[in-house]
Amino acid sequence: MIKLGLAGIGKIARDQHLPALAASEDFELAATASRNGRVDGVDGYASIAELVAARPDVAAISLCTPPEGRFEQAMAAIAAGRHVMLEKPPAATVSEAGALAQAARAAGVTLFATWHSREAAEVDAARDWLADRRIDAVCIRWMEDIRQWHPGQDWILAPGGFGVFDPGINALSIATRILPDPLTVLSATMDVPANRACPIAASVIFRTGGAPVDAKFDFLQTGEQTWHIEVETDAGLLRLTEGGGRLELPGQPALDGANMEYPRLYRAFADLIRRGDSDVDLRPIQLVADAFLVADRRITEAFEF
Ligand code: NAP
Repeated sequence: MIKLGLAGIGKIARDQHLPALAASEDFELAATASRNGRVDGVDGYASIAELVAARPDVAAISLCTPPEGRFEQAMAAIAAGRHVMLEKPPAATVSEAGALAQAARAAGVTLFATWHSREAAEVDAARDWLADRRIDAVCIRWMEDIRQWHPGQDWILAPGGFGVFDPGINALSIATRILPDPLTVLSATMDVPANRACPIAASVIFRTGGAPVDAKFDFLQTGEQTWHIEVETDAGLLRLTEGGGRLELPGQPALDGANMEYPRLYRAFADLIRRGDSDVDLRPIQLVADAFLVADRRITEAFEF
């Protein structure tokens, strides 16, 4: 068992990381690093710096803090010779994420920039089905209610918080996994509330091969919540819905396997550590950064939770 420290005890740490770690055959939760959050029965430290100083036995650190500030935390862990797993997005900027990868290589430790949505049940099946198909058009709709899924998380709309791209980057992590050709950004519009720094809604046109990709991201979606990708191909329509959890293919019954995203991430992290390898794919965050570069911004009504 690899002793692991979990940093940033908030929503995703409690909802997903703690249950996955409790069931893990690879990791033992040995310590936490969080300013306020604690886990019963586990040694708690206020920061990663304090944790690594006090606990040489903790070989790996998993970061669940917001992206802004994550660079310094991850660097502290890497500098102390610990393997590091990052929640998505891997850092607040592409250059920070690249620098972390370089530092991990130099230190001889594993860096795993996770994309949990890629581990959704039907993503691999979608990728396999699309591998030989001609892609004619792609439609991405990632629309959820920020008040339901991120209650009170002001950091999401603050500088470095990604706004609606905090969930939206999950769609891009799936798209870059399942589409055979690279995606590029053509244009974007972003709606930024008058009292916030980051977009609460966005439309982006990408291209993949010769095909257009029409993506809409919305944080103000009430009623039905939508996380789906549709791909029109020469063999008919692929529909990947429920964040990658359900797959509809032409003429076949729908597939919807069990949600094992976080157990799969921790298994992959353990495999990387054992192989002495890293996995840092920056394409999803690069696409978000490119969308910010070309975006036409509109100031919209102030937003309060
Ligand atoms: P969260 O509920 O706000 O938890 C993050 C925790 O990080 C906080 O509880 C806080 O704990 C700590 N923290 C350290 N510096 C902070 C700062 N400057 N501002 C706010 N908190 C800070 O956020 P979350 O939803 O768990 O998201 C964390 C990361 O997981 C994000 O990168 C997000 O994209 C990713 N993620 C979230 C979800 C989801 O459904 N929520 C799903 C998948 C991935 P202390 O106060 O104890 O330090």
